[in-house]
Amino acid sequence: MALITYLTTVKFGFGEIAGIEADLAGLGVKKPLIIADKGIVAAGIVATVQALSPALAAAPVFDGTPTNPTEEAVEAALVVYREHACDGLVAIGGGSPIDLAKGVALLATHPGPLETYAAILGGIPKVTSTVAPVIAVPTTSGTGSEVGRAALISLKDGRKLGFISPHLIPRLAICDPELTLGLPGWLTAATGMDAVTHCIETYLSPRENPPADAIALDGLKRAAAFIERAVKDGSDREARKEMMMAALQGGMTFQKGLGAVHALSHPLGGLKEVSLHHGTLNAVLLPAVLRFNEPEARTKYAEIRKTLGLAADADLAAWIAELVSRLGLPGNLTQMGVPRGVVAAISEAAVKDHSTASNPRPATAADYAAMLEASF
Ligand SMILES: [Zn+2]
Repeated sequence: MALITYLTTVKFGFGEIAGIEADLAGLGVKKPLIIADKGIVAAGIVATVQALSPALAAAPVFDGTPTNPTEEAVEAALVVYREHACDGLVAIGGGSPIDLAKGVALLATHPGPLETYAAILGGIPKVTSTVAPVIAVPTTSGTGSEVGRAALISLKDGRKLGFISPHLIPRLAICDPELTLGLPGWLTAATGMDAVTHCIETYLSPRENPPADAIALDGLKRAAAFIERAVKDGSDREARKEMMMAALQGGMTFQKGLGAVHALSHPLGGLKEVSLHHGTLNAVLLPAVLRFNEPEARTKYAEIRKTLGLAADADLAAWIAELVSRLGLPGNLTQMGVPRGVVAAISEAAVKDHSTASNPRPATAADYAAMLEASF
């Protein structure tokens, strides 16, 4: 039967970040390492958060998080963590810094190499409750990683693998929409489509979990209602708040597992020849995957149409493609610069990805190749 756990502590709302000094003390963290990336530092968000807390003002900052987190970056941050004798992490940013912080929290307390803990290599039970505490401070509305039990990290050999354990869920998520007000339109759109995809894929997952289904549909409804407003006017506080809630809700349902969109976007995100944004990839792949899955999930598709206020015979895949177009995101993999030569390798990797197991319709490498071809 279903395994249902909810989940970790979340502080949600404008101004919540102001309490971070007390939050660190509450978790017993005296010497945090801040994990961010250069964009977040340049936007002044790290400095804003540091100004709220003497412990963070004195903390080292690792800003070397790549667009897609890598084993090399985990190891580089771990050196800083050990040099400063840190006892916890504060991840400030989108999914990449949060996932990277989870990797550091893991290797700071468990013997390497990182590969030992990869979900598809049998690593899940090897992750113990000794994982260093992480506070996640999302600055985008999409990833859901702030309440997720997974970190997606590219190993040195190029495989982008999932590291999954309840012990990797951040001990506290501080979701303050104020921190997203300056997010550029394209990133608001791309990360917002990641949240949309999380809500749809977890809802369609065949694993039984009615509370998660209800949360996923509510998140989808909010995202669909507010994503265009948030993209059009970044200072729209209501839209920013609702998108942050939709992203959180998408993350709260990860325990059902994702599906074919993520099974494809994970290996695509690990490509070395081109750097591809996770949310943008999902936006581009979602229509083809929706068409593939429909025969196995007609009842749930009807529920999604109802949630979105669409006609009973509406073409859901076309509706998503039109939304992606209105948001100004790329409409296909060609526009994203994906070389066609990768189709075979990505299809094979997608079959092995942990998200394949929870896709509503079993997918072979040939199925994945067809979904990719339809997305060029
Ligand atoms: Zn995602």
